[in-house]
Amino acid sequence: MARRQPSRTSVGDAPGRNRTCDLALRRRTLYPLSYRRGTTSVARVEMTARIATLDLAETFVISRESSDSAEVVFVEVQHGRLSGFGEAAPIDRYGESAESALAYVEEHADLLGDDPFALEAIEHRLAPREWAARAAIDAALHDLQGKLVDLPVWRLLGLAREGPPTSWTIWLGDPDDMARRATKAVDFTRLKLKLGAGDGQDVERVRAVRAVTEASLQVDVNEAWTFDEARDALPQLAELGVAYCEQPLPAGDPDGPRLKGVSPLPIYVDEDCHRLSDVAECAERAHGINIKLAKSGGIREAMRMAHAARALGLGVMLGCMVESGLGIAAAAQIASLCNHVDLDGNLLLAEDPWPGVELSDGVQLPSDQAGLGVRQEVPDPR
Ligand SMILES: [Mg+2]
Repeated sequence: MARRQPSRTSVGDAPGRNRTCDLALRRRTLYPLSYRRGTTSVARVEMTARIATLDLAETFVISRESSDSAEVVFVEVQHGRLSGFGEAAPIDRYGESAESALAYVEEHADLLGDDPFALEAIEHRLAPREWAARAAIDAALHDLQGKLVDLPVWRLLGLAREGPPTSWTIWLGDPDDMARRATKAVDFTRLKLKLGAGDGQDVERVRAVRAVTEASLQVDVNEAWTFDEARDALPQLAELGVAYCEQPLPAGDPDGPRLKGVSPLPIYVDEDCHRLSDVAECAERAHGINIKLAKSGGIREAMRMAHAARALGLGVMLGCMVESGLGIAAAAQIASLCNHVDLDGNLLLAEDPWPGVELSDGVQLPSDQAGLGVRQEVPDPR
């Protein structure tokens, strides 16, 4: 029997040459070439998008709207043979829609250039509007980067695969109804109660839920209270053990700083705080900020906000919209920077089309797979 010959890539066989080959291969993967019109150049980053409808397991109700489904936009950026994906969850409140987000992506499809790692330069080429769409582009580029270097995004960012447990949203309803739904939320140690019905029953809602659960409670008023209503309700919520109150007053309410001065509970602002430029003013009216990628325009700006908030002594909460696991995966990458996490968007869906985020002991852990670590379960029927 012939002895097996060592392969050309065995240890000791021209290591310098193999290393050169490896480096060339890696460089080719990171910067794939395109061959067009007889010339060779680094391939452009291509971008496409489509609208998708996500069905909720149950109707969501907050102070200003209710719905059974949410329209989002899935964005794909392609570089060579690899693709990265991101999700836009446009916010009605700011005049955004799935249609406007899609139009934004299509309008900017030729502006990504040929280097998916050049996030700062790409960010400057994108018009400063349609923040959910920008977040989808940012997430897709991070996903692509991770796949190119075979690392999960949280590692690329120098962060840990950990974070606080997510809260579970109890939509606005009658006190008994909210209590009934709270008893079902056995997988969660933190419940976020939506308040602000304008019927004088908000404290009763919290009291009803408090009576049936030991879970930590937080409330989100979605801008629905006046200063007097807030001043009356907050001490009662403090007595019921509520941990903090999110956005009690309308965004920009001139009474915000005064309420911060008298509130026995920490106040977190959401509608008041979108991007880095808002954070300093939020320190006047709140004890913490709620960062959402759909408001910030992506992971990169969200991290800037978290650090700015820390410098100003503010707490940091990480929130989400109704969105699939693709959008939640992007946020989960930076959860370790935050005091509070409210990333239940994908868990509220009848079915999550982008599984991969792992709910572990109440924590929404990002995958340890490359990029954002999620894959679309049902192939696009196009
Ligand atoms: Mg909120």
